[in-house]
Amino acid sequence: MTIQNSKLKIPSKIIVANWKMNPASPKEADMLLKRIWINKDKKLANLEVIIAPPFIYLEPLLLKAKSLRLKAEFGAQDCFWENQGAYTGEISSLMLKNLGAEYVIVGHSERRSYLKETDEIIAKKIKIVFENKLTPVLCVGETAEQRVKGAQKNVVQEQLNKDLREIKNLKNRNLVVAYEPVWAIGTGNYCQPEEALEMIKFIKEILNLNFSQLSGEKNIKVLYGGSVDSKNISSYIKYQDIDGVLVGGASIKINEFRKIIDEVFKAAEIKSAKK
Ligand code: PEP
Repeated sequence: MTIQNSKLKIPSKIIVANWKMNPASPKEADMLLKRIWINKDKKLANLEVIIAPPFIYLEPLLLKAKSLRLKAEFGAQDCFWENQGAYTGEISSLMLKNLGAEYVIVGHSERRSYLKETDEIIAKKIKIVFENKLTPVLCVGETAEQRVKGAQKNVVQEQLNKDLREIKNLKNRNLVVAYEPVWAIGTGNYCQPEEALEMIKFIKEILNLNFSQLSGEKNIKVLYGGSVDSKNISSYIKYQDIDGVLVGGASIKINEFRKIIDEVFKAAEIKSAKK
């Protein structure tokens, strides 16, 4: 089977909201979606906002977004590496596709550390996500120890090569990579924007060299993630090469997230005006 996902050309800037294991009830999830939502009249052609709630909220939120005509895409925070079968407790990317989700976060550092997900597992998930025509949001990034040793580029290069090893060529495929240094996630200790930019450019180089991805192609986006908030967002998003952000903690704080959307929206507009 050829591995290829559907809709090519992701808008110029994207925001992924990783709600993690929040909130505690469907009612709160519903409220959160309604209250964070941006002005419906805004033309968001150059901006994509992807909400990644816990699995059980996906369907009600998808339906709610449809009924309110919110311009939101939905993603899951994980999936299993098979489509169906005796895998108690798991959710497949085929199920997610059939539900109407478009994206799946794969290889988040919290899963790599708490659930011991290896690059081998992540590679199998990436493969099946592509087969089911969803867009993976692959998370890579070094730990604090690795950063102190100056090993961040080696670590990220190795993760990319291993996690994408089933995918020889990225042409005609949508892929989102999130550079998420582990030490910056949920700590408030965000990566300096210049350092994040350097890593994002490096990731693009690797994709270009090892996976035949032509630089500048619109089907690949590389984001920054790690303690992004309303105060630091503009210092990342001003760079053309930073295609967006993956936001955890701040994505469930209504005012914070609204401000983040506004800043990224402005940056996406400026980018499209320059074309
Ligand atoms: C994340 O969950 O990937 C993340 C970046 O979290 P936070 O924004 O809270 O650091």
